[in-house]
Amino acid sequence: MSKVAEGVYRVPARHANTYLVEADNGLVLVDTGMPGSENRILKAVADLGREPSDVKLILLTHRHWDNIGSAAALKKATSGMLVSHGFEKPYVAGTLVVITPRAWSLYGRIARRALAIASSTKKLLRLVKYHPVLVDGASDDESILKDVGLDGSIVWTPGHTKGSISLFVNKSRVAIIGDLLRTKRGKLREPLFMENISQERSSVQRILDLHPVILCPSRGKPLPPSKIRIKERIAKPVKMETKKDAEDIDLESLAKDLSAEAS
Ligand SMILES: [Zn+2]
Repeated sequence: MSKVAEGVYRVPARHANTYLVEADNGLVLVDTGMPGSENRILKAVADLGREPSDVKLILLTHRHWDNIGSAAALKKATSGMLVSHGFEKPYVAGTLVVITPRAWSLYGRIARRALAIASSTKKLLRLVKYHPVLVDGASDDESILKDVGLDGSIVWTPGHTKGSISLFVNKSRVAIIGDLLRTKRGKLREPLFMENISQERSSVQRILDLHPVILCPSRGKPLPPSKIRIKERIAKPVKMETKKDAEDIDLESLAKDLSAEAS
């Protein structure tokens, strides 16, 4: 565990950082690492002189396994309220299965391919035992931070995934940003995978507009905004499918059939 700012701590978990934030009424945990990270996180809670029951809020920045992996175990151990953006809820609950977002660089494409091969051979599934869990609250509920006594805001920062969120702490001006950016070779760079590159750009800007002193990513060390390096990429327009599929349902004739049946 390392101190990022007054009342904000970085707790490296399995494959990703998690963060503990001290609030007036307890602790806020941001993200939970891959499955099997719970003991590391609970040890960090103990190192702060706190009990597991002091964790009042568990905030999930987005749907990926390295962020939600130990959510079930930590919710059980702490009884903290589990919160994510509404779009991420079905993935945390195991109703929908995560698909790796689009890769925007050669390295990203290679990593995406490797992930696909690993999943198809079931190796990944055997290694990663994810336990689905129900999310208790939605991140756009403004009472969530008030209840825990934290002066800050939960900011919707889509791009990496549709329901990605960041936590901004007013007192220390720290932004905990999940996979909005990642630290690589001393710079904050865009993630390997992004569902929507233009949303990603505006989300980074939304965080910068809050004038943060330091940005805390899931991957790598926290860094100041001056270390952001984003490649200029132009999002290609989505091609619309114009060819009419013969199997398509003819809505007009279906409506006629239904009205004939009804009469
Ligand atoms: Zn991610």
